[in-house]
Amino acid sequence: MTELKKNFAVIGNPIHHSLSPQIHRAFAKETGLHIEYEAILSPLDEFKNTIHQLIAQKLSGANVTLPFKKEAYELASQHSNHAKIAEAANTLEFKDDQIIGHNTDGIGLVRDLEQNLNIYLKSKKILLIGAGGAAEGVIYSMLEKKPSELILTNRTIEKSNVIQNKMDVHAKSFDVNLNVIEIAKCPHQYFDVIINATSAGLNNTELGIDHKVFHEGSLAYEMVYGKETSYIREAKSQGSKTSDGLGMLVEQAAEAFFIWHHIKPQTKSVIESLKAF
Ligand code: NAP
Repeated sequence: MTELKKNFAVIGNPIHHSLSPQIHRAFAKETGLHIEYEAILSPLDEFKNTIHQLIAQKLSGANVTLPFKKEAYELASQHSNHAKIAEAANTLEFKDDQIIGHNTDGIGLVRDLEQNLNIYLKSKKILLIGAGGAAEGVIYSMLEKKPSELILTNRTIEKSNVIQNKMDVHAKSFDVNLNVIEIAKCPHQYFDVIINATSAGLNNTELGIDHKVFHEGSLAYEMVYGKETSYIREAKSQGSKTSDGLGMLVEQAAEAFFIWHHIKPQTKSVIESLKAF
């Protein structure tokens, strides 16, 4: 009997830049699965209709990217723990008339740091810059690894305070100090890992953090990928190790692939081929 191809998609606006089709097709090839995976542009005010049309066309699952992760969470009738805590979903499963929302961004970041870059978060002091969906989506996964301290900062500091209030109960449960400092005060402390979860690099704007925050021996991680941002350039100039967010992208996709197909794909060769691409 011929195996029926299952259909998947990534939905966003804009979407032309998305590497998700390439990544999922590579995983499918490597694991011997027959799937279709397309990028779909949803009009900004039509996300719900887009999803329902795709379900009617027998889509089995979808990745969701900017700016629809909150809407995806709201549309889902069941949620994974990570999606519930972030109140955002980047992976949807369509099963038995139910929409199940997951969030794999945090798992993707932590796997990239620990498994690909060999930076283990336990007992480390971490600075997380940014207070948008990406920052909020990764905090719980980092807390699970029990760093000694996780410090939040953002251009609009009130947003960091809101996240800190919301996440403090989880930080306490993992015995992690979760604090907020103003961006200007960051260079007065030493951080083992500094994560840029802002879109400053994407828009070629300056982040406004003093280069003195970077040190030899620390890691500066930039969630934006595919270009050398000024954040990465400044970190390098201070002797820090650096990484862009390509590994996170591939690892969050691998976790979505596992949710849909119950198979863990290899990620290293996909990261390498995308770097060369
Ligand atoms: P978002 O919700 O729009 O949040 C944007 C954040 O960037 C806010 O904290 C904002 O600060 C800050 N920001 C923007 N321009 C800035 C500037 N010039 N200086 C200082 N701060 C600035 O976006 P998001 O969903 O969190 O995504 C953030 C970035 O992460 C995007 O570039 C996205 O591509 C990337 N990302 C990567 C992956 C991956 O797999 N590698 C996954 C998810 C996201 P204010 O609050 O002050 O406006």
